[in-house]
Amino acid sequence: MLTEREKAQIREVLEEAKKRLARTGQHALSYSMNHERNIGRDSIDESMEEEIFSTEMRLHDREKFLFGKIDKQIARLDNGSIDTCESCGEAISFKRLLARPVTTLCIDCKEQHEREEAAVEQSGRGGALDASAGEETGGAGATSDE
Ligand SMILES: [Zn+2]
Repeated sequence: MLTEREKAQIREVLEEAKKRLARTGQHALSYSMNHERNIGRDSIDESMEEEIFSTEMRLHDREKFLFGKIDKQIARLDNGSIDTCESCGEAISFKRLLARPVTTLCIDCKEQHEREEAAVEQSGRGGALDASAGEETGGAGATSDE
C-alpha cells in the first residue's frame, strides 16, 4: 500500500511525462501541417519526404499509445490499484513504480511477459517489443523512451 506522499510523487512523474509527450505531439502535428502545404511542389524528392512523413506518423502513434498508458496509470492511481500487479495481484513496490511509472506488472510478471514476448518476436512478429521496451528503459523518463 502506498502512502499519500508516495502517490503524490508518482502522480507528479506521470503528469510530467504527459506534458513532455504533449510537447513532442505538437511537433508531429506542425510537421504534418507543413507537409500539407508542401504537397504539389516538384522540387522535393517525394519518396524521401514520404519516408520522413511516415516516420513522424509512427512516432505520433507511439505518443498516442503512451498517452493512453499514462492516462490508464493515473486512473489506477486514483482508484488505489496502481501498486497492484495486473497479472497476479501482488504488490508492486514504490521504488519500481517510481522507476517505471507506467508499469502495471510486478517484476516477476514483467520478466515472464518479456520472455514470452521475446519468444513471439523470434517467431516473426514485429512492433510489440518496441512498445514494451519504452516502458523498461530510461529510469524516471521511461515514458518518453529516451
Ligand atoms: Zn505479478
